[in-house]
Amino acid sequence: MMVQYLAIKAAHPGSLLFYRMGDFYELFFEDAEAASAALDITLTKRGKHLGQDIAMCGVPVHAADAYLSRLIRKGFKVAIGEQVEDPAEAKKRGGKSVVKREVVRIVTPGTLTEETLLDARANNLLAAIGGAEGRLGLAWADVSTGLFEVTAIEAEQLGAELARLAPGEILLSDRRFDDPAIKALDGAIDDRITPLPASRFDSTAGERRLKEIFAVGTLDGYGAFSRAELSALGAVIAYVELTQKGRLARLRPPRRVAAGSTMAIDAATRRSLEITQGPDGGRSGSLLAVIDETVTGAGARLLRFHLSAPLTQVAAIEQRLDMVDHLLRQADLRRSLRAALRRLPDLERALARLALGRGGPRDLAAIGAGLGLLPEVARLFSAADLNPPPAGLIAALNRFGDHGELAAMLAAAIVAEPPALARDGGFIAAGHYPALDEERRLRDEGRRLVAALEARLKGDTGIGALKVRHNNVLGYHIEVTPLHADKLGADSRFIHRQTLGSAVRFTTVELSELADRIARAGDKAIAMEVELFDGLVARVLAAAGTIADAALGLAEIDVAAALAELAEKRRYTRPRVEDSTAFSIEAGRHPVVEAGFGAGREGDFVANDCDLGPGNRLWLLTGPNMAGKSTFLRQNALIAVMAQMGSFVPAASARIGVVDRLFSRVGAADDLARGRSTFMVEMVEAAAILNQATPRSLVILDELGRGTATYDGLSIAWAAIEQLHDVNRSRALFATHYHELTILAERLAEVAAHTVKVREWKGDVVFLHEVVRGTADRSYGIQVARLAGLPPAVIARAEDVLHRLESGAAAPGGGRPDMAALADDLPLFAALAARPRPVQAAPADPAAAATLDAVKTLDPDAMTPREALDALYRLKALG
Ligand code: ADP
Repeated sequence: MMVQYLAIKAAHPGSLLFYRMGDFYELFFEDAEAASAALDITLTKRGKHLGQDIAMCGVPVHAADAYLSRLIRKGFKVAIGEQVEDPAEAKKRGGKSVVKREVVRIVTPGTLTEETLLDARANNLLAAIGGAEGRLGLAWADVSTGLFEVTAIEAEQLGAELARLAPGEILLSDRRFDDPAIKALDGAIDDRITPLPASRFDSTAGERRLKEIFAVGTLDGYGAFSRAELSALGAVIAYVELTQKGRLARLRPPRRVAAGSTMAIDAATRRSLEITQGPDGGRSGSLLAVIDETVTGAGARLLRFHLSAPLTQVAAIEQRLDMVDHLLRQADLRRSLRAALRRLPDLERALARLALGRGGPRDLAAIGAGLGLLPEVARLFSAADLNPPPAGLIAALNRFGDHGELAAMLAAAIVAEPPALARDGGFIAAGHYPALDEERRLRDEGRRLVAALEARLKGDTGIGALKVRHNNVLGYHIEVTPLHADKLGADSRFIHRQTLGSAVRFTTVELSELADRIARAGDKAIAMEVELFDGLVARVLAAAGTIADAALGLAEIDVAAALAELAEKRRYTRPRVEDSTAFSIEAGRHPVVEAGFGAGREGDFVANDCDLGPGNRLWLLTGPNMAGKSTFLRQNALIAVMAQMGSFVPAASARIGVVDRLFSRVGAADDLARGRSTFMVEMVEAAAILNQATPRSLVILDELGRGTATYDGLSIAWAAIEQLHDVNRSRALFATHYHELTILAERLAEVAAHTVKVREWKGDVVFLHEVVRGTADRSYGIQVARLAGLPPAVIARAEDVLHRLESGAAAPGGGRPDMAALADDLPLFAALAARPRPVQAAPADPAAAATLDAVKTLDPDAMTPREALDALYRLKALG
């Protein structure tokens, strides 16, 4: 067995091997050590190898999914080694023969299909970075849904695109590790890379395999793929075939995504705008969480995909907006559509499991139910006697195809609540297949005869407690208590089978004949069911392409209806998207902050205008901390993202010239894992912006330069604004606490100064959250510090210092204050240092003085708890 184990293990380097032994998957050697640590399960020993104990651990087969998911989440890959023959076969070959085992599949983060291992509302992508002719290609697939896409990509866009897709696993040729494009990602994808030999990225082999799989003579019908794209596509296919052991996942034909057809949003911008991930890395608190009103898994996945990749073509955006608009107006239609879609099972994932041979009767039932819903959904549209639906909805409906026959067949063939596994039988409906009905009748008849036999034996023997029972070891048998055993034992009709403490078991010739008959009929019935199952699966897979199309159509309708629902619920309006550099938002709101205010309090959010049109292209925004600067900056970026994904937006009106790239640097966290300070992170991100932003880009910069000394920071911010203004010429919002910068508004034609209004009231600051033209008069830092609960003494002292700094400490000529002179002249810092600390204050009365002296003699480190308590009593007595 060890020989077999080691051979299989050697053929699958890089994966843990789950080696099937009966009801367990066992792991050995280092695999056992790694898995037992990762899963927190017991590590034991089994036999010796080369004189050493063999480490071993195991997981029960029935609970394997849960363990698998934990291993995959921790970054392991797992090869599943199954027994591929009946142990009886091995026995026949002779005493020492080992049951044949083969790896039937390798489970990796990017190739999951199990419902239990997947998030129903997000795609799980496998990506490959290929290349040829000096260009890069990026392909991605979702094995669980069939999605398969590719794009040619510039090296500097690779990071943004990978951030958009967020694949669970990234295939990379081992020759490409040192590629500057990969190096530039700076470790961001390292823990998701699966290295593969360069041969898997061969573009010619990739092209050949694609043609074979999709049975076409040329791929031109799918798009004009470059060699770099073919290399990436080929690597994805090769890896799926490798991990699925030849079974090919049902991927849709590859779709080519043209470069520049989506808004480029780099990883830092995605993080800072919290588009699909909230502050804690999960979904909650993100824009996605607020806008997702979809009612199906496929709809949720599509919405997320759209949100991650806002479009840049006006016509395509308008088409999506038309769909939302239509379903917003047709509220009744929308409601009945959503009610119908709620009953829709996950067609895409059921289909993928069936294609990989991992599906069961429930997947067939899901397909049947899903297809059955198509005419109903189509009818809802035609029944609604209204304006014809817009092109996008018609296109979605046209994807439905005609699946009436298959749907009816599945509905008739499968019982209402089928079991999970085909091999258990019991899922084909009665009346569907006469031969099966006949076997089942024989089986049931046999069971009835057993019941009759039991009654007869009771009468014959006079033992009322006699029972005919069934278990997996003995099959049917007669059971009596030990008290009656002798009576049966003496009767030659009864053959003894087993004696237990509480029961003695027998059989008879008649019973075993009956049992045989039942078993034969039962086995035959199950064999027939399995055959019928395979036939039905084949029928479904033959129509896989069009079923996937229909599923996509349904998902598109779900997304449009969900966005319409959202628009109504949150009073969003339709944006006007155009080919220009306009950016004019009236009464815009921050979708996530507003939603966070809770039901009934949305009105508390103060709406603000933003116009970055000619003459105002770059806004400088000042105002105290907490005034609402970041909120304002982000809301405008989010409105652009929402508009271009085809959603209505939180504003009274919005006119947006298509944004090609979005950059946001709002707040920064230390990136300690990569050994960078906040300031370094900030500068790296600023560099990306100034190097890449175009006149069609939108740039959001919050407090650039705050991470360093005042004058350094001010200078950097100053120079960056000039660059954005003169060179990049992007639309930009720039929040700053350097009020000095507002002078740029007078010097640079396109710069406009704005501020977030606050009011001072009885020494406190009141935030109005209202953005107006002008400059903040002061920072109100001390008032904000008071709100934050800084001790009153510190606040008072700070006010003191500020007052002195402001009144006359400034150096002649308005330059930097002369701090040394200030400190000497008004003994400011000296006074601060000399101020007696409260504990040391000279006590006025002698008792207090004695107490203080006694306290000084105490050495807490040297005391036992008992001594400490005694000392406390002594001190108390002094007072
Ligand atoms: P800043 O960036 O100026 O320090 P923030 O944008 O972080 O301020 O806003 C501080 C808080 O003020 C936010 O958490 C939010 O609750 C509230 N706020 C911001 N803008 C608004 C607004 N327009 N209407 C209502 N509350 C707002």
